[in-house]
Amino acid sequence: MQETPTVVRTIPEPERFRSRSYLDVLADMPSTESCRISPAAMRSMHDSAARHYPLEACGLLLGRVNPLGWGIDEAREVANLNTERAADRFMLDPQGYQAVDRELAGSDREIIGIYHSHPDCPARPSPTDLAAAWEGFAYIIVSTCEGKPADTRCWALNVTGERFAAVHIDIEADSAGAQP
Ligand SMILES: [Zn+2]
Repeated sequence: MQETPTVVRTIPEPERFRSRSYLDVLADMPSTESCRISPAAMRSMHDSAARHYPLEACGLLLGRVNPLGWGIDEAREVANLNTERAADRFMLDPQGYQAVDRELAGSDREIIGIYHSHPDCPARPSPTDLAAAWEGFAYIIVSTCEGKPADTRCWALNVTGERFAAVHIDIEADSAGAQP
């Protein structure tokens, strides 16, 4: 068996990511809000992204919106219905969405965002991602290279709703090993 060398992976940047239409997707200023995410949610999102490589994975981000931004405590994978272009497009299964939405009804948690992966592409949103974006949602993109998560970034529509602003990701301290 061949060993996988431990090298820092360079994320490929296809030409289109440098095109005007892709650059126009991004706002100059980062978001003033931030995204707090539990290590468990981060892990399941990364596992999902890696498992589907070289295709795109997608799923829902669950938790609570707070005055500082988003608090994500769970990432739930949902089927990508776009099988034709599953390497560079995703279409989140609306039935999967509705099922989770129903499950959370009456609780203080809700669907507050969406994640998807960009196999062998930067973790920056595309014009297609922008066209599909909802106001108030956090959008996490996981770049996957050679089957592994290589970069994880969060985005949200800016105040004008015309572009994606970068959102700082804050990973909560892992409580798994903490003493009771
Ligand atoms: Zn995308």
